[in-house]
Amino acid sequence: MPSHRSDDEDKPCRACSDFKTWAKGQNKVTFTSPNKPQHPRPKDCPLDKDEIGRSTWGFLHSMASYFPDKPTKKQSEDMARFFNIFAQFYPCEPCAIDFQEDLKRHPPKTSSGTALARWLCERHNTVNKKLGKPVFDCSKVHERWRDGWKDGSCD
Ligand SMILES: Cc1cc2nc3c(=O)[nH]c(=O)nc-3n(C[C@H](O)[C@H](O)[C@H](O)COP(=O)(O)OP(=O)(O)OC[C@H]3O[C@@H](n4cnc5c(N)ncnc54)[C@H](O)[C@@H]3O)c2cc1C
Repeated sequence: MPSHRSDDEDKPCRACSDFKTWAKGQNKVTFTSPNKPQHPRPKDCPLDKDEIGRSTWGFLHSMASYFPDKPTKKQSEDMARFFNIFAQFYPCEPCAIDFQEDLKRHPPKTSSGTALARWLCERHNTVNKKLGKPVFDCSKVHERWRDGWKDGSCD
């Protein structure tokens, strides 16, 4: 069953489910439903949980990888504040609640760009483990999100 928006219990929360689960909960026809009219899903629909997750990780890892290696005190404090505020407003509520708990156990490491990128990689791996996904090798986080792979395949 898809989750529901906290401000309106009758409306399922798209941002908390993948599209197929959400559509099933709504009894909607989908482009993958067998024996039903086929229509492609338009590109400008609201994002589902996985689309929001993928885009958000892309933004967060890029931001962490470009964070200065010698930040000012204010930059360090602002970045820590950013993650705490981000965790309050992440649109998938069950994801946000778990992320807030994880932040309490592992507060943002904002002393340098490398520390931040590594810390965020570990936070993402916590979610990966929860979802049964492979764990990412955090020694490669700058290759993935800033420099491109050492084999030159992104150049
Ligand atoms: C803060 C947050 C909390 C979330 N919580 C939940 C949740 O509780 N339940 C849920 O179902 N979904 C959650 N999601 C969404 C989930 O993490 C995935 O984004 C979603 O399942 C889509 O997964 P994906 O396989 O496309 O790859 P994603 O996990 O979105 O990863 C995108 C890309 O990042 C790279 N990557 C993978 N792991 C790492 C890492 N550790 N460090 C650096 N780069 C990496 C890989 O190249 C991967 O292709 C959350 C997302 C965010 C941003």
